[in-house]
Amino acid sequence: MELLSVIVPSYNEEENICDFYDELMKNAPFFQSRELDVEVIYIDDGSTDKTVEKVKELASKDSRVHLVSFSRNFGKEAAIYAGLKKAQGNYAVLMDCDLQDPPALLPEMFRYIDEGYDSVATRRVSRKGEPPIRSLFARMFYKIMNKISKTEIVDGARDYRLMKRQVVDAILAMAEYNRFTKGIFGWVGYETKWLEYENVERKKGETKWSFWKLFLYSLDGITAFSTVPLAIASFMGVLFCVFAFLMIVFTIVRKLIFGDPTSGWPSLVCIILLCSGVQLFCLGIVGQYLSKTYMEVKKRPIYLVKEEL
Ligand code: UDP
Ligand code: MG
Repeated sequence: MELLSVIVPSYNEEENICDFYDELMKNAPFFQSRELDVEVIYIDDGSTDKTVEKVKELASKDSRVHLVSFSRNFGKEAAIYAGLKKAQGNYAVLMDCDLQDPPALLPEMFRYIDEGYDSVATRRVSRKGEPPIRSLFARMFYKIMNKISKTEIVDGARDYRLMKRQVVDAILAMAEYNRFTKGIFGWVGYETKWLEYENVERKKGETKWSFWKLFLYSLDGITAFSTVPLAIASFMGVLFCVFAFLMIVFTIVRKLIFGDPTSGWPSLVCIILLCSGVQLFCLGIVGQYLSKTYMEVKKRPIYLVKEEL
């Protein structure tokens, strides 16, 4: 028998824990015919509701259910890492607790694994049910990201992904603190089959992502997988030096011909404002990378476990 580890990051999902389990176990006949044992690993990401109790209740009925409970909220990326670390299986699959990642796709995913793919990933082709402004920014992010990063980051990719052991180990080997999982998946490579499906709306509870959180997350993604912003900063520096040099020549020539080098202080104010603005902007870019480096060299643990079951 082979083992499949199902990893479920859960943050305040008390209403969804049991629903998810029931939905997953609808695949039981498939698991049996494919000769798969299953372990379900719920990662409680510092929930403040009854998530932990619900998982314990399930675990008391089914010994295949496991729990890793964090000491506080560390974010989904940390939960994914913890889950992959805990997973014992020949295969691991990441799934959201809110049933936005339909477990019914598993048989199809295994078909591709059996065909020889190393991992099967999913992307949603529509963004139905999402605020239009969020969709717009998400699209823009993926466009920019793919222009400035060598790592391919697929638009609409979800974290729902089935992987062979080899891929799991590769991801675990990337023990960086600033984790942008979508980028990490692309970075490790391996042969990946993409499945597409229509966006499924969350069954119960609310999304944990606000617009601001998503915005900061996108900045994390850019700094983690591209250094192009730094190049832009250098480029702007060069551009402004050239511009300044031309202005010097212009001023000297004007003085020699017309004898009046000092006219127009408004233009001077504009130039000073523009240049200091650009300077601060570039300093900000450098600061972003510096802060990420700072967090990285501290080597803090990615998550802390309070309880394990
Ligand atoms: N999640 C988590 N930690 C967090 C935020 C979310 O473990 O800090 C989990 C959450 O419980 C869910 C999954 O990550 O199972 C996806 O979260 P959500 O549905 O809020 O995101 P969305 O689907 O809206 O992108
Ligand atoms: Mg969701």
